[in-house]
Amino acid sequence: MDLPLAVGLSLGVALLGWGLRGLTPAGAGTAVLVGTGILWPTGWEGMAALGAFFFGASAISRVAPDKSVAAVDAKGHRRDPWQVLANGGSAALGALLEFLLPGSGIWIVTASLATAAADTWATSTGGWSRVAPRDVITGRPVPAGTSGGITWLGSLGALAGAASVAGAAILVHAPRVLFPAALTIGMLGMLADSVLGATLQGRFHCGACNRPTERRVHRCGQAATPVGGLAWLSNDGVNALATAGGAGLGLLAWHFFS
Ligand SMILES: [Zn+2]
Repeated sequence: MDLPLAVGLSLGVALLGWGLRGLTPAGAGTAVLVGTGILWPTGWEGMAALGAFFFGASAISRVAPDKSVAAVDAKGHRRDPWQVLANGGSAALGALLEFLLPGSGIWIVTASLATAAADTWATSTGGWSRVAPRDVITGRPVPAGTSGGITWLGSLGALAGAASVAGAAILVHAPRVLFPAALTIGMLGMLADSVLGATLQGRFHCGACNRPTERRVHRCGQAATPVGGLAWLSNDGVNALATAGGAGLGLLAWHFFS
């Protein structure tokens, strides 16, 4: 796709996302860069995958009772630049490989965005679960919204989210074999996201409110005490690692299956 068209379309999607209150102003600015990085190398196929991710994730997180700690805690539904980069940064950087390895871009973009979609959809649809989530490592029930907690409903939602991105890409004639590949990678990425969330992600406690939190500074303004995991590894950091892993697996899958 021509660069000016890629910038124009990305600007349109970002403005729409901002207008629908899905993005903060700085998040919308970052989305223009991420969108251009995806659309310029991968064209309409990349546009389909990005559109399916963006509108699907925005819609599901709006209708579902979101119990994620991040949503309850601080950031709400409007995505800031860090969340935009965590979800789409690796897809945008990886897509540029298209100029070196023609054909690889759409595999990287679809696999990485399928991972991001699986995670977002799992969080949202898991909110409908009447059964408490279980820790992905120990299998013990944990409070709703705990990082690393998984539910059957969330896992089904993850599958639907990954399928929406992969399906959109192949509808705009990306190779059919990309569908099962991206679905598998999306589910693996979501699982890795849960495992990292349960183990390495920083966990904090706000002494003032006597509440667990994922953030160093609680929404009440008090500095929270680290109680486990790596203090510097946030939920956005875990998402970024998972989507980067998805992008890497997408490149591998392109190498072996295309
Ligand atoms: Zn507090």
